[in-house]
Amino acid sequence: MPPRNKKPIGSLAEYKRKRDFTKTAEPEGVRRAAGPVTRLRFVVQKHAASHLHFDFRLELDGVMKSWAVPKGPSYDPATRRLAMEVEDHPIEYNAFEGTIPKGQYGGGTVMLWDRGTYEPEAGGGEDALRAGYERGDLKFILHGKRLRGGWVLVRMRREGERAQWLLIKHRDEFADSSFDVVAEVDTSVATRRTMEQIATGRSRVWQSDAGERGERVATRRSRMAKKATASMARKTVKRRKATTRR
Ligand code: MN
Repeated sequence: MPPRNKKPIGSLAEYKRKRDFTKTAEPEGVRRAAGPVTRLRFVVQKHAASHLHFDFRLELDGVMKSWAVPKGPSYDPATRRLAMEVEDHPIEYNAFEGTIPKGQYGGGTVMLWDRGTYEPEAGGGEDALRAGYERGDLKFILHGKRLRGGWVLVRMRREGERAQWLLIKHRDEFADSSFDVVAEVDTSVATRRTMEQIATGRSRVWQSDAGERGERVATRRSRMAKKATASMARKTVKRRKATTRR
């Protein structure tokens, strides 16, 4: 059994201190009340600030623990992606897509790139996740639309106040070194808009080059579908092998 820690972690004080809510449309947010949660949420936001990065957020103790991942997640288990821990965000942030005004903290475009639920790899709920976080070895399973399977965040060192972690894909049926998910998937999981469409505030429907764009999305989708089929096929093969062995 992994060690347990019952003391809640996380605070929105730094989040609130950094933002002027009269100027940004980001949610002010409140910390979720303490209590058991059956389904913990995760979200990944693509954020074109001064430097493009992906904000990786995991719900824990009523806030979203957050990491800035400059290159985004990778399905290749041999690839370790730097993940810089940033301030906890409110859970309401999971619904935020849009533009943060220039000159404000994090000014730039934010896309909801993926979302879903997650769970600790070995069970144990929030106690196990909290222990993993504090140990600097957080193993979890993502149930998103773009990100699935087992992943780990490993803490490397602290630089000033900020801890540096690595985000790594576990070797499982979802791992795929040939799938560059960050390059392949560049639309919003919520609205299917591109960064450009979000930045200009246009909807995906009102689009003069909708035909061309629609085709590009369709091509990507069919690639994603093929991958999903291949992954299911691999699982079926594994299951068959397991059955044969018995
Ligand atoms: Mn960010």
